[in-house]
Amino acid sequence: MKESSIKIDLAKGCGFCGGVRRAVQMAEEAAKDYMHVTMLGNIVHNETVVKDLEKKGVFVVDSFDAIDPRYPVLLRAHGSTPAVEETLYAMGLTILDATCPLVREIHKAIKDIEKEGRICLIVGDHDHDEVVGIAGQVSQATIVASPDEAKKLPTIKKAGIVVQSTQTQANLQAVVAELLPKVMDLRVINTICAPSRLYQQEAERIARENDAVLIIGSPNSANTRRLAEVVKQFNHRAMVIASANELDIDALNGVHSIGITAGASTPDCVIQEVIEKIKRYKPKEGYHGKKFL
Ligand code: SF4
Repeated sequence: MKESSIKIDLAKGCGFCGGVRRAVQMAEEAAKDYMHVTMLGNIVHNETVVKDLEKKGVFVVDSFDAIDPRYPVLLRAHGSTPAVEETLYAMGLTILDATCPLVREIHKAIKDIEKEGRICLIVGDHDHDEVVGIAGQVSQATIVASPDEAKKLPTIKKAGIVVQSTQTQANLQAVVAELLPKVMDLRVINTICAPSRLYQQEAERIARENDAVLIIGSPNSANTRRLAEVVKQFNHRAMVIASANELDIDALNGVHSIGITAGASTPDCVIQEVIEKIKRYKPKEGYHGKKFL
């Protein structure tokens, strides 16, 4: 079959990050060894991944009571609070720790800030599992999601900042700019992880260098939304889709080159399905499908 002439520019960093890939591999191997593995909450914010793991014997529960003590429990990539970990150990369960080592570094960083006698600030999303896990490492932490929230903070003598691993540099810089005039002694530990930095740099590059951009990921994935924010700063012809089924292919009529990126919880198979759909596409005369965002 003759392939479409649209040039596809896949971001160098996209899809599963090292931390998520490691956690999924650990879950799959444990399911083979034990026939059944439990996770407290989803391993990643992606329906396809969660359903696929379920078929392999990895089950999600939302409370301690729902855990079957005969089988191991997997700690997820974005980390947990010490209280959750202590409860699981106290239940005498076999614990498999899939917490990303880079998230563990953020846990250490916020503890260092507390030891220095500073007010602990976390630049990140309220209620996100990773942020809740980071906050739980210290006796008290304030979560600052945006420059507007930073503006509302009182004057502080001594504070320290750590950052949710998937935040954008732009949001961190905007929050710090608001805090500098009101915090006398501010220490910033930039804990945005290296994979997230690469994903964001590449999202900017593909947005600048291509006619249009697709961002593949679940609507409930924070880092997918963040990649979309980066892309839309540089290219308005951007579309967020969860899977190939959601791609209105005729929207690509007239597009010569398309950049593709995907959130850290989007599996390779979903990215490949989108690429294959674009390769099979033959432009129709006169129809331009649904508009890009
Ligand atoms: S986004 Fe970064 S910190 Fe979070 S799991 Fe992936 S590699 Fe680890």
